[in-house]
Amino acid sequence: MDRSAPAAPHIVIVGGGAGGLELATRLGDTAGRRRRARVTLVERDRTHLWKPLLHQAAAGTLGVDEAELDHLAQSSRHHYAYRLGAMDGLDRTRRLLRIAPTRADDGRELIPRRELHYDLLAVAIGSCSDDFGIRGVGAHAHRLDTPTDAARLQRRHLGTLHGWRRTLWLTLAQRIAHRVGPRVKLH
Ligand SMILES: Cc1cc2nc3c(=O)[nH]c(=O)nc-3n(C[C@H](O)[C@H](O)[C@H](O)COP(=O)(O)OP(=O)(O)OC[C@H]3O[C@@H](n4cnc5c(N)ncnc54)[C@H](O)[C@@H]3O)c2cc1C
Repeated sequence: MDRSAPAAPHIVIVGGGAGGLELATRLGDTAGRRRRARVTLVERDRTHLWKPLLHQAAAGTLGVDEAELDHLAQSSRHHYAYRLGAMDGLDRTRRLLRIAPTRADDGRELIPRRELHYDLLAVAIGSCSDDFGIRGVGAHAHRLDTPTDAARLQRRHLGTLHGWRRTLWLTLAQRIAHRVGPRVKLH
């Protein structure tokens, strides 16, 4: 082993969405596989769903479980490391990425706060809907940025449809009752 050979650089990618996932996969398959670089993806979610599919998820024509990609499985197939967590700070002088504690749904801390040293950093954390401070938008508009938003929208639609169906049936029944007379009693 050549001890004077420089260590392989550590390439860190933050955000495993459309851009970051593609980059991590390609770098892993090339530089990572040949050990010319260590590649790490830092992503706050365990799975990825291609955003253009969110409409179908919201409409209920696509099961999210069928279409999403598991980050751990993808990383182990493509020669890069995956770290679950959300970046919440950056020290560019010391080349340190700060990762917030990872918590369970009930708030319990699963992985404590940590720092990750990088030689090269790619930040691909995407974007989300902005209400531009317009009053009422936050309270009345639906967001469609994540699978959670899609599931919420679907539940809301189903609730509304259920309400309409009930109203429709009641109106119809009332009309029939009106024609038939007092023999039919509605509750
Ligand atoms: C509903 C919808 C439909 C769309 N349809 C189309 C379409 O038909 N055609 C098209 O070309 N484009 C479409 N787009 C746009 C397209 O999805 C985006 O341009 C693309 O996803 C951007 O890729 P990205 O990698 O920059 O960000 P994203 O794909 O958004 O990925 C960002 C990733 O970063 C992660 N992340 C965020 N913050 C942190 C953090 N602090 N720490 C760690 N991880 C973090 C997120 O969890 C996410 O996985 C659509 C977008 C939406 C919302």
